[in-house]
Amino acid sequence: MEKLSERDKKHLWHPLTQHKTAALPKGIVKAKGALLWDEDGNTYIDGISSWYTAMYGHCNEHIVSAMSEQMKQLDFVMFSGFTHEPAVRVSEELMKILPSNQAKIFFNDNGSTAVEAAIKMTLQYHYNNGDKRDTIIAFEEGFHGDTFGAMSASGLSVYNGPFEDFLMKVERIPTPNKQNTEQVLDQLGAILANNKCAAFIFEPLVQGAAGMKFHSASGLDTLIQKCQGAGTLCIADEIMTGFGKTGRNFASDYLENKPDIICLSKALTAGMFPLSITSCSQKVFDAFYSEEMAKGFFHAHTFSAHPLGCTAVLAGLELLSSDKIVKRRAYIARKHEEFVLKIKDNPKVKDARCMGVVLAIDVETEMDRYGKLRDRLYKHFMDKGVNLRPLGNTIYTIPPYVIEDSQLQQIYDSIEGAIEIA
Ligand SMILES: *Cc1c(COP(=O)(O)O)cnc(C)c1O
Repeated sequence: MEKLSERDKKHLWHPLTQHKTAALPKGIVKAKGALLWDEDGNTYIDGISSWYTAMYGHCNEHIVSAMSEQMKQLDFVMFSGFTHEPAVRVSEELMKILPSNQAKIFFNDNGSTAVEAAIKMTLQYHYNNGDKRDTIIAFEEGFHGDTFGAMSASGLSVYNGPFEDFLMKVERIPTPNKQNTEQVLDQLGAILANNKCAAFIFEPLVQGAAGMKFHSASGLDTLIQKCQGAGTLCIADEIMTGFGKTGRNFASDYLENKPDIICLSKALTAGMFPLSITSCSQKVFDAFYSEEMAKGFFHAHTFSAHPLGCTAVLAGLELLSSDKIVKRRAYIARKHEEFVLKIKDNPKVKDARCMGVVLAIDVETEMDRYGKLRDRLYKHFMDKGVNLRPLGNTIYTIPPYVIEDSQLQQIYDSIEGAIEIA
């Protein structure tokens, strides 16, 4: 039989790929815990938990068995006119850990559509209140997904050229740090005064796709306060940061001023199922609650609240708060801190930082986001048996919480090797 990577070439079109120059993809035949197996029998440590989803490890038995039971009981039913136990329980369980102002759960089927729904909610919220608004505020270099609303809010316009004329109206501000917060606040004040701002959307504390860039919680807090003071709804895109990655359950837990809307996906279902959630406060929901049909939120995705996805969420939440995982999360965070101390003075390291299980190192080299050095580093990691995918000059890892000590060490060793060849 021809290899997967060869058969793939015939009819498949991969995301984020220029097929003319890309290397053939590796055929993966099995995954367990932190490990991936390719068709040649090589193993790779999944150092980014497959886009930050599989945080409890691949093929986690607790989640697999819950889902297979659910599959026999109720596979799927449309979520308009019907409801079911897994969805109701997800809403009950999430309310226990989401910021206390969150009151309602709206289901979608992936990260971009969670953002899309959030943006539409904010536009209709103002419309329903007789205060039509047309502008979204977002951070420079933010990433919120690839559908049109989400793409508009994303400041990382790597290859957005063909679509630029069709995007929504967005005003951008830099992320706040200790030095610039006053200046960003002034900039935000001017934007709020000169536009009808429906929403401010942000990745709280960590901008993932930008290269795991961190910003200040107190700075973000003042921006949220200013927006909310102007009636502009705040959307926290926690699709990357959610479910323990920053050390707390949600990055919003570090904020005093709570977002009106929160987007969740990725680790939400532990990588087992495409599903997402847009949660919101009672105030947002109330703007849609009316005798008038047209004031309702007419937005749906076929697979909304899929029972299998909801079951994965519930099993994942049990693990998230389990003794074992809580301890591992703290352990990884500590190990990351030690590693940062070890390498931060290396002359080839421009910056090393960590927060929770997120570890990022900027190397002292200028390069294109998808350039040759990235390919070289990516190959280095693969050769070392580690799946890490540098973003620009940033090497980062978000390992599964269940990663073993020796595997974590293997990641650190491979990063040190990469710094040397960068
Ligand atoms: C991945 C991601 C998205 C998009 O989610 P998809 O499921 O890929 O559409 C949006 N926002 C953030 C912060 C993400 O990390």
